[in-house]
Amino acid sequence: MDISRYKIQSHSDLKLAEIKTNDSGSYGSREDAEKRLVDNIQKMAEYQSKLYAQDKYALLIIIQAMDTAGKDGTIKHVMSGLNPQSTHVHSFKQPSAEELNHDYLWRAIKRLPERGSIGIFNRSYYEDVLVVRVHDLIKKQQIPAKLITENIWKERFRQITDFEKYLFENGILVVKLFLHISKEEQKDRLIGRIDDKAKNWKFSAADIAERQFWEEYQHCYQEAISETSTNHAPWYVIPADKKWFARLLVSEIITQTMESLKLEYPVIDKAQSDVLKEFRQKLAEGLI
Ligand code: AMP
Ligand code: MG
Repeated sequence: MDISRYKIQSHSDLKLAEIKTNDSGSYGSREDAEKRLVDNIQKMAEYQSKLYAQDKYALLIIIQAMDTAGKDGTIKHVMSGLNPQSTHVHSFKQPSAEELNHDYLWRAIKRLPERGSIGIFNRSYYEDVLVVRVHDLIKKQQIPAKLITENIWKERFRQITDFEKYLFENGILVVKLFLHISKEEQKDRLIGRIDDKAKNWKFSAADIAERQFWEEYQHCYQEAISETSTNHAPWYVIPADKKWFARLLVSEIITQTMESLKLEYPVIDKAQSDVLKEFRQKLAEGLI
């Protein structure tokens, strides 16, 4: 699959409203997509095993979206084949008092994946240029007042770009996914959470409150994505009205990103190989 169609170029004049939310690429049917998803899940597991064995790179997958867009479901379905031992998912909620007493990247830095592993951020430090911007929460962030100027968002985009470059230059690959749904689709999903008793627990009045800020969020997402999409840490806009397509595309992006690392199991040299042979022989002969 050609994932470049969904990749956002640096400082592009992104218009989210012009990107279809119900696209399903060349996949006409859900069945074909689901088969391909199964293949990708298997590939991801193989690459992950090599990533772990090599213990050099780490992969950080950032998932951002409006409520109900399918962040949790994507993590559940697409990451189902990953080895739990070297996969770490973290959901970023409203910052605690302790977190607010630090710079905004602090809590994310604590959760960065270690070498050989995959980290998944369900929301991330991008909330600090999204919800914080939409609701003007910046004043609660204990930043010295004179540092809060009209340039603060531009400054944060630069800080984030620099931070992600630093990660890239240290072997931590960052891939950022925006699950793009329409307001109409969100309405249907919210109604679904009310109508279906088994989904009632998912319904949150806070989601309705946030829905009133749809346009503001789209504007902030649009700017954040185009200002922080880079070759070293690209953003992909995932059409997410059709869950089966969104999951497939996410699996393609992760698979292809891991493929690009050309991961291989570490090979041992002649001397190490001789040592193994010697141990093998001794074990077989009952000498050790
Ligand atoms: P959920 O993902 O549904 O569990 O909701 C988590 C909530 O935490 C969302 O409403 C986010 O917008 C909010 N949140 C996450 N990070 C921040 C942040 N840095 N500042 C304020 N709210 C945040
Ligand atoms: Mg929620």
